[in-house]
Amino acid sequence: MTGMVLCDSCGKREAEIYQPHTGRRLCRQCFIGDVKERTLAEVRRYGMIRPSDRVLLALSGGKDSFVLLDIMAETHDPSKLVGLSIEEGIAGYNRREDMEKIRKYASERGVDVIFTSIREHVGHSLDEIVARSQAQRLNVSPCTYCGTLRRRIINQYAKILGVDRTATAHNLDDEAQTAIMNILRGDPVRLIRQHPLAPRLSRRFVQRVKPLRKIYEWETTMYSYLKGFRFQETECRYIEMRPTLRAKVREHLYKLEEKHPGSLLRLLELVDRLVEKTLDRYRGLPELPACRVCGEPTSYNRGVCKVCELLSRIGVLADL
Ligand code: SF4
Ligand code: ZN
Ligand code: ZN
Repeated sequence: MTGMVLCDSCGKREAEIYQPHTGRRLCRQCFIGDVKERTLAEVRRYGMIRPSDRVLLALSGGKDSFVLLDIMAETHDPSKLVGLSIEEGIAGYNRREDMEKIRKYASERGVDVIFTSIREHVGHSLDEIVARSQAQRLNVSPCTYCGTLRRRIINQYAKILGVDRTATAHNLDDEAQTAIMNILRGDPVRLIRQHPLAPRLSRRFVQRVKPLRKIYEWETTMYSYLKGFRFQETECRYIEMRPTLRAKVREHLYKLEEKHPGSLLRLLELVDRLVEKTLDRYRGLPELPACRVCGEPTSYNRGVCKVCELLSRIGVLADL
């Protein structure tokens, strides 16, 4: 008789993974099954993706995007899926091999991937954009340029391809951080826009969904590892320059979760339920105004959108 601990779910195989938020020890198969089921439960709960939907998957090449691709390709008609990979242009971070890896995994699952870059759309790599910004001593984090431009590029492709949804691989840790940041900033509109059922404020925005929003980051790491996906492990060199608020919130939430497993899950569940009750008040808002420069939607109180504002301050003209 060996001292093998059996899986708390199937009771048959050896338990290898401890899941702190449920207190269970699971075998590989049951752990992978659990991540998949919780993802699908979240998709169904909010009607994120209908069977007939064509979906654009944003694939960064990291572990989260691998999990998104893997689960979507298994549960949705792969011919209705298309991947989009955007090379930011960060020295030492974007490596051809990583992009090639995600393309290979996708094609094995019957999903085509489109490759593009920030440079292709803006005329400059992220490194060049950051250098210009630093030369002018602008206090804008590289992540702000990176995130804003990627979001715009994803939406542009979604419109060109005529897909019904764009799916990003944000996980529970990302979403909990964003929720807390919106609360700390006292920004209810942003908090509401984070909700899966938030009304779309412009016809020019393709509906965005985040199927992994209730899956912990350690779980996407473990899932990738168990499935043999060797994801990108080099860190972006701007990670230290992440906006201070997010970095701080991230650190605190990490400690909280360590002491009280399940905290992040309970937090996002509660925010979801509270926001859901107020959603009706935000229906029937007028269409967002168009940016004076590019014509894309901008906030109610701005004439120029965030993309145009960021780029014009560093003297870059983009066709986006
Ligand atoms: Fe972009 Fe910031 Fe992520 Fe680097 S850390 S890839 S700059 S969002
Ligand atoms: Zn099991
Ligand atoms: Zn604009």
